[in-house]
Amino acid sequence: MAKEFVAEPDLQFTKDLIAAGGTDLKKCYQCATCSVACRIAPDNNPYPRKEMIWAQWGLKNKLINDPDIWLCHQCNDCSTQCPRGANPGDTLKAIRKMVVQENSRPAFLGKLVGEKSMFVLATGIPVILVGLLLYVSGWSFPEGPVTYSAHHLPPKKDGFIFTPALQVLFTGALLFAVISLFLSLKAYWQNLNDNNPVPAGRQQKPFVPSLVEALSEILPHSTFKDCEANNIRYSSHLLAFWGMIGLAVTTGIVAFNVDILGILPPSLNGPGTVPIKILGNVSAVAFIIGLGIMLMRRLTAPDQTGGSSYFDWFFIYTILGTGLTGLLTELFRWSGIIGGTYVVYTIHLIFVMTLLLYLPFSKFAHIGYRTVAIAWSKSVGRNLKTTVRPNYVPSASAETAAE
Ligand code: SF4
Ligand code: SF4
Repeated sequence: MAKEFVAEPDLQFTKDLIAAGGTDLKKCYQCATCSVACRIAPDNNPYPRKEMIWAQWGLKNKLINDPDIWLCHQCNDCSTQCPRGANPGDTLKAIRKMVVQENSRPAFLGKLVGEKSMFVLATGIPVILVGLLLYVSGWSFPEGPVTYSAHHLPPKKDGFIFTPALQVLFTGALLFAVISLFLSLKAYWQNLNDNNPVPAGRQQKPFVPSLVEALSEILPHSTFKDCEANNIRYSSHLLAFWGMIGLAVTTGIVAFNVDILGILPPSLNGPGTVPIKILGNVSAVAFIIGLGIMLMRRLTAPDQTGGSSYFDWFFIYTILGTGLTGLLTELFRWSGIIGGTYVVYTIHLIFVMTLLLYLPFSKFAHIGYRTVAIAWSKSVGRNLKTTVRPNYVPSASAETAAE
């Protein structure tokens, strides 16, 4: 006999989902075309039809602990095939935002980053922190060629930003982000365990081998590639993903050289060809191309990318701002525009601080949540992909229903 289930609707949650981008979720009439259309939804746990009815009923607990929402790669094929225009792809995206908010540690930062009404405060905090850094460093630009790092405070100032203060501030922000994300993901893993039964006849595998299995799928984007209906999204995401990893590795090596070994990176002495510089530049180009394609498609083909919520735009604002100001800083310095270099560098620091501080609460955190959800699914043998379905072709009856 099926296990008894008592529904506890949370209608405010449904309203929040609608506000977060699931605008059309109430149009769904449960035909299940979307679950059939989705090429990567496995046969033993198809989505997104079930998520649509849970969303309409306000079943918050089921939705925010549903690992399947992270298996979706937002190709939006289900939305284009939906005969009711209910846009299930957008609803899944809105649920993912709510998961990040619900698991945020501390919780108020989830609201700060996710709510449009908080934009001024959210962007003001990094401005104030970098302003304090400038205050400690003594505001003025140093004389002579561009020198970012100062090892002495005024009146003997020998660079723009007092390095020890910068290290304390940015290392502190990074540590905060790492600890906060770790606590959030740990809570999420526990929630998945508490709210999803292990399929009958299976025993849950430990976390580490499940994570390795998940990463072997995530790093090459192998499942993402199966979303053939929107293959350009796969290519651009892959470029941006590996570009970002390359930039993170570059930053880590440079920071280690400067902060631990006391070696200045060659990039500070003009264009060079050393491996770290090649890695940095190739990664930056890959990141910008990937991100640029995604942004262009978001603006020019919204039917294939889905609607863009404030949560999406805040993420784009942060990473695009970081990338562009970083590039402009380098261009200004090469062009000999010394004052402009310092101004753009200051803005760049504000964006980097925004990125670090809000990493666990912005859309950036989807990297961690998706990884944990896929690892959890692997750990219990859920969502085993048996076949990749052919592209769905709507039947005459589905088209009739749309009219
Ligand atoms: S295809 Fe549309 S109407 Fe049908 S179940 Fe999916 S979301 Fe609902
Ligand atoms: S957006 Fe794509 S991957 Fe996600 S449920 Fe729809 S069809 Fe599947």
